[in-house]
Amino acid sequence: MRNEQAQIMDIFGINVFNDAVMRQRLPKNTFTEFCQVRQGQGEFSTALADVIANAMKDWAIGKGATHYCHWFQPMTGLTAEKHDSFISPTADGKTVLEFSGKELIKGEPDASSFPSGGLRATFEARGYTAWDCTSPVFIKGKILYIPCAFCSYTGETLDKKTPLLRSMEALSKQAVRVLKVLGETSVQSVTTTLGSEQEYFLIDRSFFEKRLDLVLAGRTLFGAPSPRGQEMEDHYFGTLHERVAAYMNDVNSELWKLGVSAKTQHNEVSPAQYELAPLFGTVNVATDHNQLTMETLQKMALRHGFVCLLHEKPFAGVNGSGKHNNWSMLTNTGNNLLDPGSTPHENMVFLVFLCAVIQAVDRYAKLLRAAVANPGNEHRLGANEAPPAIVSIFLGDQLTDIFEQLAAGGAKSSKKSGELKLGSSILPPLPKDTTDRNRTSPFAFTGNKFEFRMVGSSQSTAGPNFVLNTIVAESLKAMADQLEKSKNVVTDAQKLLQKIAKDHSRVIFNGDNYTDEWVVEAKKRGLANIRSTVESLETIMDKENVDVLERHKVLTKHELHARTDILLENYSKSINIEAGVTLSIAKRQILPVCIDYCANLAASVGIIADSGVSNKVVRKSLEKVSGLVEDLDDAIEDLEAAIEKAQKISKAVQQARSYRDDVIPAMAQVRQAADALEMLVDADAWPLPSYAEMLFLR
Ligand code: ADP
Ligand code: MG
Repeated sequence: MRNEQAQIMDIFGINVFNDAVMRQRLPKNTFTEFCQVRQGQGEFSTALADVIANAMKDWAIGKGATHYCHWFQPMTGLTAEKHDSFISPTADGKTVLEFSGKELIKGEPDASSFPSGGLRATFEARGYTAWDCTSPVFIKGKILYIPCAFCSYTGETLDKKTPLLRSMEALSKQAVRVLKVLGETSVQSVTTTLGSEQEYFLIDRSFFEKRLDLVLAGRTLFGAPSPRGQEMEDHYFGTLHERVAAYMNDVNSELWKLGVSAKTQHNEVSPAQYELAPLFGTVNVATDHNQLTMETLQKMALRHGFVCLLHEKPFAGVNGSGKHNNWSMLTNTGNNLLDPGSTPHENMVFLVFLCAVIQAVDRYAKLLRAAVANPGNEHRLGANEAPPAIVSIFLGDQLTDIFEQLAAGGAKSSKKSGELKLGSSILPPLPKDTTDRNRTSPFAFTGNKFEFRMVGSSQSTAGPNFVLNTIVAESLKAMADQLEKSKNVVTDAQKLLQKIAKDHSRVIFNGDNYTDEWVVEAKKRGLANIRSTVESLETIMDKENVDVLERHKVLTKHELHARTDILLENYSKSINIEAGVTLSIAKRQILPVCIDYCANLAASVGIIADSGVSNKVVRKSLEKVSGLVEDLDDAIEDLEAAIEKAQKISKAVQQARSYRDDVIPAMAQVRQAADALEMLVDADAWPLPSYAEMLFLR
């Protein structure tokens, strides 16, 4: 045990060019200057960049690196990298290893081959990457990775990181203003913190390779339910399978070396489903780290003979995967602004920031919903396993009580929690939390942070967090505008909180979000319930969203428009791929097997009749199977027609709607017939590994 702990401490961050390494390798003044630039005070000079680049290169080469790359996050939601070696030819035909400040801070990848939503035409190829010096540089394999933002020649953002960084500044600016009027004058900046719990599935690689749907679409498009699913409730927190535990150990070591603080791991609810959570960090570093986590989970799975599925809904009938987004705000003086303390009713700073979040989430619920809208998440949100598509907030008993007191004119007391005694003298009394948990809420207060649970497992955390930061910045701005003019801040702040508590009480819901009653109740309260991805994406360009993102300089209208187009196109393309795979598997794998099976049955009918015994059972089977084969064939033709219709539409919104309304139901028809056939046809002949095999065999 001692050795293992020592080993973690030895390897943690060894592949990161972090502050400790910089302190060692940079002249003191250079490091100080760099820290100032990183905090937004001062510009990056060429001289500074040169010194850092050189130290970085020496460190990287010492660790066996041969190349460097600008690592960025285009609108695909994945990461992108292009490698350049450090070699630089000399006049005498030899080479030296070089890395300049210019190469460190700026790259020029071709921008025309990434989704740009019309911001770039194919011939307008130039794009830039710029070093995000707030996220540490690291080495993976033989490559030095430099986290970067990515923009077009004209300066428009083409990535996920830039709006996130902009939104962090916006929130910090407004939060500092509010803190100042409340008397917290020593705070200079506020960062948002993120801990993202990553869910995923692991299946044996041999099954994966036999399923074109998993290979090309990331989820199963066929598959009759397994006779056993998750109903025994025995997988969640269950003992880890030995092979899975070995895999997780390797994932952890790899992540620790990269400075990712992987902390918690366990079995999830569905068979073959797992979770990994890191310790929280600054939101943009945590977002980079989540990308590294997803990549590492997938890479390491292959080494262990598994495939890691990050899709939101790889299997029908069992839970899908999300990414719980734990979010809070932290001052540079180390104060978590969402920490209620022991007497929250007296904690004005906490109440102000809490109310700012509540107001923001209620006002911009549709934008928040759109930030998690992707084709995969459509299967989760609103199904009875994940939060519904209705955005509401769980506050718990204590804070709801205080919120109600605020609405009535002022908070005077906080409910206490006490101790839990377990009835055995050898068990210690447990200090009780002030509130129970609520797993069904999409946006839950969990002690000293909010947990946004609608984020999909495959999504970048940049999107939901830049929206959260911006809308909370907007609430804080309105408060600061008002309170800065106030002659009596305490009284006016009370009034402000009273108004927010009255206006936004509709968004608070502590009950079971999975019930039909809540859907009815939410409608009465006027809360939006946007079930489909397309419908949700269509709300992005609503005036209030454009205004808030422009006001805080996070995205221009033009940039937002481009993003919306990319997301709509991505929806259509994803469904088009799924539909194509459905056709391919149905026509080329399932239909031939079923026809053969019918032919065998038909032959048996004759043979058995000749032998003089009853062939009733065989006839019945033949009738059933051939009936379903006809259904399958009809469904295939309908799907072909639906795809053709959708492909002909040129406008992004209309096309996405057609994929949703025409293609998806047609795919469902094909699947229905095929899954029914799977239950009838000889298991040995069936061309696809079954749900039972994939979910239960390790
Ligand atoms: P669960 O919600 O599954 O019970 P935990 O309570 O262990 O999980 O925490 C979930 C995540 O929340 C972890 O990644 C943790 O680091 C993160 N977290 C804790 N405090 C904060 C905070 N102040 N800001 C952001 N994330 C936080
Ligand atoms: Mg959680």
